Amino acid sequence: MTGKLDQLKTHLAEYIDLNHAVGLLSWDQQAYMPPGGTEDRGNQIATLSHLAHQAITSADLGRLLDDLLPEAAQMDPDSDEAALIRVADRFYRKETRIPTDWVSRFSTASTLAFDAWAKAKRESNFATFRPFLEEVIRLRQEYASFFAPYGHIYDPFLDDFEPGLKTSEVQAIFAVLRSEQVELIKAISQGPQPDATFLSQPFSEAAQRDFGIEITRKLGYDWTRGRLDVTSHPFTSSFGQGDVRITTRFDPNYLPGALFGIIHETGHALYDQGHAPAYRHTLLSNGASMAVHESQSRMYENLVGRSRAFWKFFYPRLQTYFPGQLGSVSLETFYRAINKVIPSLIRVEADEATYNLHIMLRMELEIGLMEGSLAVKDLPQAWNSHMQDSLGLIPTDDARGVLQDVHWSYGYIGYFPTYALGNLVSAQLWEKILEEIPDLPQQFEMGEFGALLAWLRKNVHQYGAKYQPQVLTERVTGSKIDPTPYLRYLKSKYGELYGL
Ligand code: ZN
Repeated sequence: MTGKLDQLKTHLAEYIDLNHAVGLLSWDQQAYMPPGGTEDRGNQIATLSHLAHQAITSADLGRLLDDLLPEAAQMDPDSDEAALIRVADRFYRKETRIPTDWVSRFSTASTLAFDAWAKAKRESNFATFRPFLEEVIRLRQEYASFFAPYGHIYDPFLDDFEPGLKTSEVQAIFAVLRSEQVELIKAISQGPQPDATFLSQPFSEAAQRDFGIEITRKLGYDWTRGRLDVTSHPFTSSFGQGDVRITTRFDPNYLPGALFGIIHETGHALYDQGHAPAYRHTLLSNGASMAVHESQSRMYENLVGRSRAFWKFFYPRLQTYFPGQLGSVSLETFYRAINKVIPSLIRVEADEATYNLHIMLRMELEIGLMEGSLAVKDLPQAWNSHMQDSLGLIPTDDARGVLQDVHWSYGYIGYFPTYALGNLVSAQLWEKILEEIPDLPQQFEMGEFGALLAWLRKNVHQYGAKYQPQVLTERVTGSKIDPTPYLRYLKSKYGELYGL
C-alpha cells in the first residue's frame, strides 16, 4: 500500500513540476518577455503542456489508481491519503477524456490569442482579436463534447473551476443576488454621493508600490517566498509553496486601482503560501476551487481592505506617502470615497455593490457563446447592450468594454462566476470569523492582522485542495454556498454609509 502510494506521489510530482514550469513561462510572457517571443513561447508552452497531459493520463497512472481506489475506500475519508487518491483520480478521469492533440491545439491557439488580445486592447480594436477568439471558442465547444452527456454545455467548464457545481445551481444563486443588488443600487443612487474626486490625481507609481508592499507585509505575505511585478492584468501565480508571486498594474492618476489590486492578490497569495507543508509537491497543495480562492482575495480586498478599522491604522501611513494629495482629506472622507457606489465600466475597479452584476453579464455571454446562440462577431454589441441593461452604461470603446479582461484570450470559460461566488463565500466565512474573534476590528485598528491569518490558516488554507468547495464551506460555516450573508453584509455596510 505505502509503496503504491509513494509511486502515485512520484508520478504526480512530474505532472506538478511540468505544470509549474508552464506557469512560470506564462508568468514571464506577461511580465517580461519581449513581444518577439510570442511564437517561440507558444511552442514551449505547447510542448510542456503536452508532456503534462501525458503524465496525468498515462496508463501507468491509471493502473496505480485502479490498485489504490479499493484500498482508499477502506481508509478514513478524512485522511490526507484518501483525499490525495480522490483528487488524483478526479484529475485522471477528467484529463483522460481530453485528447492530447486537442491540448496542443488549444495551447497554441490560446497563446496566439493572448498576444492578439493584448494588441487589440492597446489599439482598442476588437476586429483584430476576433479571428483568434473565434478559434478559442470553437476549441472550447469541442472541449465540452468530451464531457457529454451533460445537463448544460456550461457544466463542464464550471466543473473545471468548481468541482461538482452545476450551471442551474449558480443561476439560482445569481437570480437571488441580481434582484436584491439591483434594488440596493437603486436605493443608493437616490441618496447624496460622497466626493471621490481626490482619488483621481497624480500619485507617483513608486510611492504606490512602496505603500502596497508595506500593506502586504502587515497582512502576512512572506516576501522570501514571493515578489511583485507589473503586468497588464493583475494575477497571482504559484510555482510551489516556496514561490508565490503577485502582479499589479499602476495608474499614475488613480490611487485605488493598484492599491486594492495588490490587497486582492495578497489574499490569493496568502492562501497559496498557507497550504499544509506536508502537502508540498502534491496535488493537495492547491486551492479548493477558484471560488474559495476568490473568497480569500475578495475578503482581503473588501471585508478587510475597505473597512473603517483597516484605514484607522493605515490612513495616517498613506497620508505620509501622499501628503500633498491627502494631507487635508479626513479619514472619514477617504473611507466614504473608497466605498462609493457608482456603476462603472471596468470590472476590476467596480465597487462591492455593483461587482456581481459585471460577473452575471459575463456568464450570460459565455453561455451564449458556448450554446452557439451568440456569435463572436456580435460580442461587442451584446456586451454593450448588456452593460446598458444591468448598469446603465455603454462603453466608449472596446478597450473599456469587451476587451477589458484577459480571460477569454486564454480560453477561460466558466471562470468569471467564481469571482461572484467568492464574494458570497467570503461573507459566509466572515460571519464565522467575527463569531470566534469578535474584537477583530479593534485588532485591525492597532495594525494587527495575525489573528485573522491564523484563523484562515487553521480553517481554510492548510487544507489546500483536500475538500471540494461545497464540502469545505459547509465544514467551516455550517452551510453550502449561500448568498444571504453577502446580502446581509452589503445592506448593513451601505445602509450605514448611505443612510438607507
Ligand atoms: Zn482574484
